[in-house]
Amino acid sequence: MPLYRTQAVVLRSMNLGDADKIVTLFTREYGKVKVVAKAARRIKSRFGACLEPMTHLSLIYFGKEHQDLYRLNQCDIVHSFQKVREHPQKFYTGIYFVELSESLVAEAHPEIPTFDLLCKALRKVEGEGDLETLCRLYEMRIMALAGYTPRLKRCIQCREEPRSRWVGFSYTRHGILCAVCQDQTVLEARIQNGTLNYLRKLLTLDIQHTDRLKIPKGSEAEIESITHRLILARLGRELKSYPFIKKMAV
Ligand SMILES: [Zn+2]
Repeated sequence: MPLYRTQAVVLRSMNLGDADKIVTLFTREYGKVKVVAKAARRIKSRFGACLEPMTHLSLIYFGKEHQDLYRLNQCDIVHSFQKVREHPQKFYTGIYFVELSESLVAEAHPEIPTFDLLCKALRKVEGEGDLETLCRLYEMRIMALAGYTPRLKRCIQCREEPRSRWVGFSYTRHGILCAVCQDQTVLEARIQNGTLNYLRKLLTLDIQHTDRLKIPKGSEAEIESITHRLILARLGRELKSYPFIKKMAV
């Protein structure tokens, strides 16, 4: 039976029977997989505290190819994100990032850039920077990696670069609309032209340098509304952790 050796981030963990756990992992090489951790709830379990959501692991699991449930054989903590767990706003931000990747990543399909983005984002949560800007950057980047990059340079209808102070935004068509084309469609949202620059920067800026981006007050709510509604349009539902980060950001 094949053995799989990889790194992973724990996405969720559920009790199974009297002593076991089913753990959903985002593995670096094999994408999202589910494993059974036998006797994980026994006091002297060899898996210890490895199976908490957000934990970055190095692990070995086995099972037949393409099956739904593998068996966890061994795991070691690469990083526990303990400092994130001790701080409520950081904790919910980390859980939100984990939940977002769980919703967007396919089963058993390698998505290495998305895995690396999640690890970098969690490390950044642990640091001192602004969590709001980090959330916006993570939302934009994970959506882009999932194939949903909004078109922010030219009008999605006429291809002209909008010069007016206000531009339209379509969540269903993932992009902006100029002043002329806005009048010919049912408008989903309207944002300041100046906000577009910040949205573009969120798509390109290195996540390590999130703190260099200072989003002006007037653009913060517009950007939040754009990224949040793009995610809603894609997932069709609200993530459970979202109301918590929203409440804590106030
Ligand atoms: Zn247009």
